[in-house]
Amino acid sequence: MRSHLLNDTTADVYRRSVTEGVERVARKLATTRGPFTGVTPAELAPVVDAVDLDKPLGDASAALDELEDVYLRDAVYFHHPRYLAHLNCPVVIPAVLGEAVLSAVNSSLDTWDQSAGGTLIERKLIDWTAARIGLGPLADGVFTSGGTQSNLQALLLAREEAGTTDLKKLRIFSSECSHFSVQKSAQLLGLGRDAVVPIPVDRTKRMQSVVLAAELEACRAEGLIPMAIVATAGTTDFGSIDPLPEIAALAAEYGAWMHVDAAYGCGLLASPTRRHLLDGIEHADSVTVDYHKSFFQPVSSSAVLVRDGATLRHATYHAEYLNPRRTLAERIPNQVDKSLQTTRRFDALKLWLTLRVMGADGVGGLFDEVCDLARQGFELLAADPRFDVVVEPQLSTLVWRYVPENASTPEDIDRANLHARKALFASGEAAVAGTKVDGRQYLKFTLLNPETTVADIAAVLDLIAGHAEQYLGENLVHAAS
Ligand SMILES: *Cc1c(COP(=O)(O)O)cnc(C)c1O
Repeated sequence: MRSHLLNDTTADVYRRSVTEGVERVARKLATTRGPFTGVTPAELAPVVDAVDLDKPLGDASAALDELEDVYLRDAVYFHHPRYLAHLNCPVVIPAVLGEAVLSAVNSSLDTWDQSAGGTLIERKLIDWTAARIGLGPLADGVFTSGGTQSNLQALLLAREEAGTTDLKKLRIFSSECSHFSVQKSAQLLGLGRDAVVPIPVDRTKRMQSVVLAAELEACRAEGLIPMAIVATAGTTDFGSIDPLPEIAALAAEYGAWMHVDAAYGCGLLASPTRRHLLDGIEHADSVTVDYHKSFFQPVSSSAVLVRDGATLRHATYHAEYLNPRRTLAERIPNQVDKSLQTTRRFDALKLWLTLRVMGADGVGGLFDEVCDLARQGFELLAADPRFDVVVEPQLSTLVWRYVPENASTPEDIDRANLHARKALFASGEAAVAGTKVDGRQYLKFTLLNPETTVADIAAVLDLIAGHAEQYLGENLVHAAS
């Protein structure tokens, strides 16, 4: 069994094994005809169940053959131009290279003595990101597992900075379109049930700062404490960007921590043409960025940035075995002092290689392309009487629904859209997402693939219309009989 350990004597086994795996994936990428096969849980579960984990196959080739059946054949492929569903991006090759290197070397970024250069690389990328945001000379941050963890950590810092032990008095203000991790964080942080005050959005799905101002005033009048305002720079559903300058001014006026959740919109930081959409983000006390959404990085790659690095001390604990106090005096850079995690992947390497190979303009240009595509898709939808589209996209998301020509009840239209989404997914031809707007069923394109064309969008719209019409036709027949 020693032959499976990666070390000096097995370098050749490693080379062959990984090359074989890469070869299979490469073949898969070259031959995949759709984003999905349409397999159902009922069909796939017995295949996975049948594997006896206590009877190993012994070699990588056999395991890869089996993997074809249990995973690769039926995986959902985000690189396919007709995968238009969730916030998943196709990944750039330099980042995948980084992934291969980081897992083979297996650095752990909690301490200097488990990572060395890895720690410095991560710190440099944090500085790079903070500079792009404009957070100033004291800024700092740390890589995280994702936007959920980044939001949690930011709100932890905000809670500690609020300067009260009476947690029931703390309030967080975020738009009704903000990510559910804000709610989840509030609960994890021990705040009261009513801690998160949802602020309504305008027609373009951006937080109404006038209402925010009124809610802040009410909060103060009731003797409560405005702990944080969460501005979303790219809402998950609509890609809408809250009015950051107005929110920053209100945060300053009411002494609230300003957190910008740019999990989705962070790609604008590298955009050659659209950086201005994030104007005002430089006033934030903390920012969430998900490189695994709009920087074309493999999951996971994410970070939380703060204006004042000293606030990260709220996440600092010292363990004698790991990061004893003396390491502070000795100025040994231990990233665990800033993180909610202990053992932590060197995810930063992926972004490093991406920037070193492609440059910021290269990766930002890809995000620009999908934002341009969304605009073209919007025009297509707006001009097509079969569809109703909700808002003009600021980023790369389109929310829309099929509306039949002949009169149907709102419930029928909801069911037809939901059916069309499911039928499309089951066909494996394309994948779209769904969401509710004002209680009604809508469908959603999250465009993150620069390979997707307007023709792809048009084709998928026709497929959706076809499925929806068929459903309504059958239902009508059914109702008449
Ligand atoms: C995706 C998303 C998150 C959560 O990020 P994960 O990486 O999935 O944990 C938070 N906020 C927004 C706005 C998002 O779009």
